[in-house]
Amino acid sequence: MNKNIAAEIENDVCEESSPDYLKVSLAAAMTMDLVPGIFYRNACLHCINVLLTYDEGCKANCAYCGLQKTREGDYNDKSFIRVDWPVFKTDDVIESTLKKKDIADRICISMITHEKAKKDTFTILKRFVGELHCPVSILMAPTVLKHQDIDSFKECGANMVTVALDVATPELFDKYRGKGVNGPHRWEKYNDILEYSVSVFGKNRVGCHLVVGLGETEMEMVRRIQAVRDIGARSHLFSFYREKGSRLENHPQCPAGKYRRVQTARHIIDYDMGRVEDMIFDDEERIIDFGMPFKTVAEMIEKGVAFQTTGCPGKTEISACNRPFGDSSPKNIRSFPFALNANDVARIRKELLDYD
Ligand code: SF4
Repeated sequence: MNKNIAAEIENDVCEESSPDYLKVSLAAAMTMDLVPGIFYRNACLHCINVLLTYDEGCKANCAYCGLQKTREGDYNDKSFIRVDWPVFKTDDVIESTLKKKDIADRICISMITHEKAKKDTFTILKRFVGELHCPVSILMAPTVLKHQDIDSFKECGANMVTVALDVATPELFDKYRGKGVNGPHRWEKYNDILEYSVSVFGKNRVGCHLVVGLGETEMEMVRRIQAVRDIGARSHLFSFYREKGSRLENHPQCPAGKYRRVQTARHIIDYDMGRVEDMIFDDEERIIDFGMPFKTVAEMIEKGVAFQTTGCPGKTEISACNRPFGDSSPKNIRSFPFALNANDVARIRKELLDYD
């Protein structure tokens, strides 16, 4: 055999790539005692988040993402949604998850855009379903998927699926994920996979990740949340947080007031308490009335649930997936990974009125 080819094959076999290896979110690695650390305010995790890993990384180029291929550095050193993702053997992830049966209510496989991602996701999904005690979610990469793959995810035992649409409008999608960055993603494809997934998994069994602060107005984001709800899915919000070295490393985080108002609107829409058409926006398309009695909104804010991280559900929690500090530092929390205390609620009340 040609020496170069032999060396290439050897490298291929030696590299720490999926399906034999997985990246694990720092919070999940801490939860499973794979790395040391304690959670700020006991932000206990109930979902083990894992990410496919390949030496070449993700083949897409989303402007805001820590994994984008044009960001300098080795794929294994890149952060994703603000945190590090150390690599572990899939065997060890399974063993460690089983040791935390009392805590781990769910496990989630995040795909990346790579030619091996689909095949490896099926391999890992089958192992998780066969060997673990908890339901399995898939954060899908629609660009490499067809309708029949969604059917197959369901047949193989996936419990829920999610599409990271991330941006609110087709124009912003194209600018930050599609042609604007020489990226492979298309708005129509993402929405098609989202809608088809609801027809396969059912109402409230499909999620849609959306990032607030990528140039959209509050009205545009809330209309997107309503559109997602109208097809039977629910939205999971992130506040944009700049990843160092990404194309948007200098893009500012959105004002706290905007994030709080969008979180409130999402809670109202996703739990079918109201609709975007009833909400009133000012001339800068910011929410000034949620279209519900003031007392009802005030009581909702007081409970604080609307401001907690949302995601795929667990046994007891509204969301097993609380992604601690995935969109802010613990000092200035955007999505709360735990129940709010009185001080948190007082801060939120002020932020909701911030229109600067
Ligand atoms: S909400 Fe969490 S568990 Fe569900 S798909 Fe997204 S990252 Fe995975």
